[in-house]
Amino acid sequence: MTRVVLVGPPGAGKGTQATALSEQLGVPHISTGDLFRAHIANNTELGQDVRRYLDSGQLVPDEVTNEMVRERLEEPDARAGFLLDGFPRNVGQAEVLGKILSSTGQAIDAVVEFKVDEDVVVKRLLARGRTDDNEDVIRRRQEIYRSETAPLLSYYGDSVITVDAVGEVGDITERVLSALRDRT
Ligand code: AMP
Repeated sequence: MTRVVLVGPPGAGKGTQATALSEQLGVPHISTGDLFRAHIANNTELGQDVRRYLDSGQLVPDEVTNEMVRERLEEPDARAGFLLDGFPRNVGQAEVLGKILSSTGQAIDAVVEFKVDEDVVVKRLLARGRTDDNEDVIRRRQEIYRSETAPLLSYYGDSVITVDAVGEVGDITERVLSALRDRT
């Protein structure tokens, strides 16, 4: 069970969990947000193109995002599995992901939903202090989650495992690992 998508509202702790899970499962953690931020930090052409979307909390256009993910998944370390964090973020991206994987005989094994109250995540994000963590941008990202990303949960249907994402970091990691084990 190593091809896993993590879904949850901004601030649900997906990134922290993905880092721990990636070590435990021995598969790379692929975060589209991290990939975009690296492009911005390195001032690449792609970075210059996407900066305004990250700054305002809007989604980067699908063509740009999907192509970046396609290239990342073609790298050898992703062949045996991966944890996708922050992608797909809408049903269109999920359809493209399905096509990318099926072209090499792969498929998603599970989708882990991080369940957490919106009040809790807004507090966490304000404490985190990333440049896109001011209150307006946070609110916009939450709205986009509800309208564009949450529909993925019905799209993936029975593949979704819902995990309570409130508590100690280590406990939550254990919850995810045991939920994944129960599925195999
Ligand atoms: P994250 O680190 O996942 O919170 O993402 C930070 C920002 O990167 C988002 O607010 C979007 O602007 C952009 N982003 C990350 N992943 C995607 C995606 N799959 N599709 C479009 N934009 C994305």
